[in-house]
Amino acid sequence: MIRIRNLVKKFNNHTVLDGIDLDIEPGEVVAFIGPSGTGKSTFLRSLNLLEKPDSGTIQFDDDTYDLSHISKKETLRLRRSTAMVFQQFNLFKNRTAVENVEEGLRVVKKIPKNEARQRALSELRNVGLEEYQNHYPQHLSGGQQQRVAIARALSMKPQLLLLDEPTSALDPERVKEVQDTISLAAQEGNTMLLVSHEMGFVRKIASKVLFLDGGKIIEQGSPEAIFANPKTPRLQSFLADIE
Ligand code: ADP
Ligand code: MG
Repeated sequence: MIRIRNLVKKFNNHTVLDGIDLDIEPGEVVAFIGPSGTGKSTFLRSLNLLEKPDSGTIQFDDDTYDLSHISKKETLRLRRSTAMVFQQFNLFKNRTAVENVEEGLRVVKKIPKNEARQRALSELRNVGLEEYQNHYPQHLSGGQQQRVAIARALSMKPQLLLLDEPTSALDPERVKEVQDTISLAAQEGNTMLLVSHEMGFVRKIASKVLFLDGGKIIEQGSPEAIFANPKTPRLQSFLADIE
């Protein structure tokens, strides 16, 4: 079980996250929805310490991190538990697909080169891209680049995979292949926190959906409860606007 408590993040005097609490069970896919500018990315980034929260803790089993007072060593340890997939893929442009996946295994996990290569190839195989192993990112489609980024994140065997609008920078015809890759990772039992505007996908993949607005979780529940039976006027109008 992963427990997040009282996550607060301010930019100057603007409180973006106003004390978020969240429990995530192993193997769960928790999806965040909400208007843009409401702090969804900031929340994921705070869990990976790409932003430094003003307060908050995250607990993985026996490991608790105080996110606002964390040492460099603990930051590295936390980043090994949480891998992130970004909207813009963020692959190394001067490295091939397999080298992109291998990098973290070698640098972060200190796995020897031959073994790292074998593991990287196996991760690429899982996302259906083994034959593209020697391609550079510029010779891959957006969907393929994002699948490499997912393979890279999964290769770290994170306790929590963070996905920030993983399909929103893609051409429409590439969205499904990336969603299928994420669905497969979910079926394999990976625990995920997903931000997405693709409501059909969220409905299909999420075990729990959270609606964030004004720095707080306004409503949460099963996809069925959130989409078929929204209770708060704010969620009702958010869903009406995107249809
Ligand atoms: P979302 O992902 O839900 O669209 P974000 O987390 O990106 O929202 O942003 C939430 C709010 O925090 C916005 O008002 C945004 O302008 C502000 N914000 C995000 N990052 C920074 C930053 N580095 N400096 C100042 N303000 C920021
Ligand atoms: Mg965002």
